[in-house]
Amino acid sequence: MSDPTPTPGLHHVTCIAGDPQQNIDFWVETLGLRLVKQSVNQDDPSTYHFFFADAEGTPGTSMTFFPHANAGQGKVGSGQVSRTAFRVPEGTLDYWESRFDECGVEYDERIERFGETVLQFEDPDGLPVELVEVEVSEDDPTVPWTEFVPEEHAIRGFHSVTLWLADPEPTHELLEKMGLENVGTEQAQGDTPGDQRTRFEASGPVGKYVDVLPTVSGGRQGAGTVHHVAFQTPTDEEQEAMRTMVSREGLRPSGQIDRHWFRSVYFREHSGVLFELATKEPGYTTDEPLEDLGGHLVLPGKFESRREQIEAGLPDVTVPEPETAEADD
Ligand code: ZN
Repeated sequence: MSDPTPTPGLHHVTCIAGDPQQNIDFWVETLGLRLVKQSVNQDDPSTYHFFFADAEGTPGTSMTFFPHANAGQGKVGSGQVSRTAFRVPEGTLDYWESRFDECGVEYDERIERFGETVLQFEDPDGLPVELVEVEVSEDDPTVPWTEFVPEEHAIRGFHSVTLWLADPEPTHELLEKMGLENVGTEQAQGDTPGDQRTRFEASGPVGKYVDVLPTVSGGRQGAGTVHHVAFQTPTDEEQEAMRTMVSREGLRPSGQIDRHWFRSVYFREHSGVLFELATKEPGYTTDEPLEDLGGHLVLPGKFESRREQIEAGLPDVTVPEPETAEADD
């Protein structure tokens, strides 16, 4: 059997959060991402599902959350994505540090990792996040959303995820079968000093890295932790080939599930991290025009007929908008 087409990289990362308004305020107003979809958790429609991305919801840019005011606090540990990293243009970390100072966001001292500069911080739920300076070329596929952060400083999609795994070796092999290349190991800093960080690289350019750190410290799913990470399998055929490979590895992938904006296959990798394979089509503009993305609660398929009941069970939220700058007139 032929090998599956290599994944180009990450598609989206989905996390658990606490208060929905706090979640929107931080990811839109502080980090400057666009809310491209307001929906509900398709497995639990009493919980919102927010999607924050670049201006067009380009694959490899969307960070999504299931926010619930009563979500218990989670703990990052083995079998999870321990940290999610975003790309920012070279030389912009000064801007981000002063922005964080103004917004009262604490951050750590910058570190160097695989020759790149990294700024680590947490979102209001304690979710570990980082910004990594990269060279952004003229033809970069991401489209910055400039309502809160100027274009030249804006986040440009995912850089990487870091996985904490009890037994990394089988996952190293899995990542290589998914088409990522082992590009080296270095002493880890910032997360778990003393351990070795091994980097895997996809074709990219967005969301092209997966880093693996061995750890046995126990985690607990809850607010401030990642629920799953999705990889791009652009077409149904590519997804099915990847699914077949995963199945041969003994990892019991789900069948294809229609997630309305993409079609998905789920499986847990060897150390328990929930992986998803997501198609490119149909994308976030399948049910809202580009200019209106995220403006209203979208209820896919069967949920639309229950709109009144679903809306009644969700807290009101306000999407932040920039203050109209009268001084500019
Ligand atoms: Zn997902």
